[in-house]
Amino acid sequence: MEGENQSLTPEAGRLYVVATPIGNLADITERAKSILAKDSLVACEDTRVGGSLLTKLGIKNRLVSYHDKNEQSMATTLADRLEQGESIAVISDAGTPAISDPGFRLTRECHKRAISVIPVPGPCAATTLLSASGLPSNGFLFVGFLPPKSAARRRFLEEHIDFPYTIILYESCHRIEKLMAEMVDILQENRCVCLGREITKRFESIASGPLTSVNETFQASSKKGEFVVIIAPPTFTL
Ligand code: SAM
Repeated sequence: MEGENQSLTPEAGRLYVVATPIGNLADITERAKSILAKDSLVACEDTRVGGSLLTKLGIKNRLVSYHDKNEQSMATTLADRLEQGESIAVISDAGTPAISDPGFRLTRECHKRAISVIPVPGPCAATTLLSASGLPSNGFLFVGFLPPKSAARRRFLEEHIDFPYTIILYESCHRIEKLMAEMVDILQENRCVCLGREITKRFESIASGPLTSVNETFQASSKKGEFVVIIAPPTFTL
């Protein structure tokens, strides 16, 4: 493929947005490994998580922390370093940076300063589940996490009850039971949904079908782990 060798070596003054596995180490790409090994610096959400990933991959490199709480100031610092000619990779704890994870402020800062931003694609929980869900994938709204307050989550569901495209949500194990109960309460019982738990991990489970049957499966299963919820358009049946 054109530019194949070149794309494995980071270039000075460029930011690389590198996706990492969401549970299965084998999902790292050759290009991600090469960039993480050869760039000047890896900016990670959590240096312990990033460090552990690099160790598992047999890579040694300098790490710097870039997370929710220092994102604004670090975006400036990292952009300064890029302007001085360093090549920097940004990773999050898992999946694609900037997708419900830190990254956006840094990429925005780079674009403001005309610094090249190079995506190094790989896993993302939302599109990974969508690809296997059997639900319409021609158009979708990715919402990330709904607000923590139940009233705001309910309002979102009510406002999107007739939304004509697929909706993808992230939810933590702490709130997934509440979200499922709210969906059962607000959406029609035959609304098609997909619930993915621990995708690409040992205890992966994926259930697609009418809300009532997916909820029955959910109630009978472990509530631990990470979850993605997909809601099909109201006219769709499986
Ligand atoms: N940047 C990540 C991505 O590209 O998917 C998402 C990070 S966000 C902080 C974490 C949320 O993503 C989890 O709460 C869960 O909703 C979803 N998620 C991440 N990994 C997952 C997995 N292996 N199985 C199911 N959901 C997952």
